[in-house]
Amino acid sequence: MATVEVYQFTCLSDNFGVLVHDKESGTTVAIDVPEAAAYVQALALKNWKLSHILITHHHWDHVQGVPELVEATGAKVIGPERSRQKIASMNRGVEDGDSVQLGPFTVEAIGTPGHTLDQISWWFKSEGIVHTGDTLFSLGCGRIFEGNADMMWASLSRLMRDLPPETRIYCGHEYTLANARFALTIDSSQ
Ligand SMILES: [Zn+2]
Repeated sequence: MATVEVYQFTCLSDNFGVLVHDKESGTTVAIDVPEAAAYVQALALKNWKLSHILITHHHWDHVQGVPELVEATGAKVIGPERSRQKIASMNRGVEDGDSVQLGPFTVEAIGTPGHTLDQISWWFKSEGIVHTGDTLFSLGCGRIFEGNADMMWASLSRLMRDLPPETRIYCGHEYTLANARFALTIDSSQ
């Protein structure tokens, strides 16, 4: 665990780029690729070689940079099986409950539909890290596009139930300020 480093950076207007790196094996995993250039730059800055790309869902602002980043790095792409037709360059599809082994990382795919039907939260169990894509943000949750409110509630409840409280949560967008403003319209007593 001490050999793991997470590097988070912003890209596009409000997306997050995330790289999870294991110093000992050199394994480096990207979660989503809003734009390839920002990832290429981050990898150069850290001097890391990308091995895998995990995709949370099919929206353009999470996958549009994938082909260019694969071209630049040769990384293998793993994403939701049900969106295989929508995500270019995907090597492997997963379903809810599948595990993938990426170097030393055992990463579990938790299906968290609501924002989209294909949404996967990627849980690096031993490292105590999860990436919730556009399901759970700082102070809020994702907009419901393809699922319904019950589905989103079930997904959020599942994350609450399954993830240990000390889990570090990464997500797809920086919406904290807007979410805080909205939260105050619902409950201003704090
Ligand atoms: Zn989205």
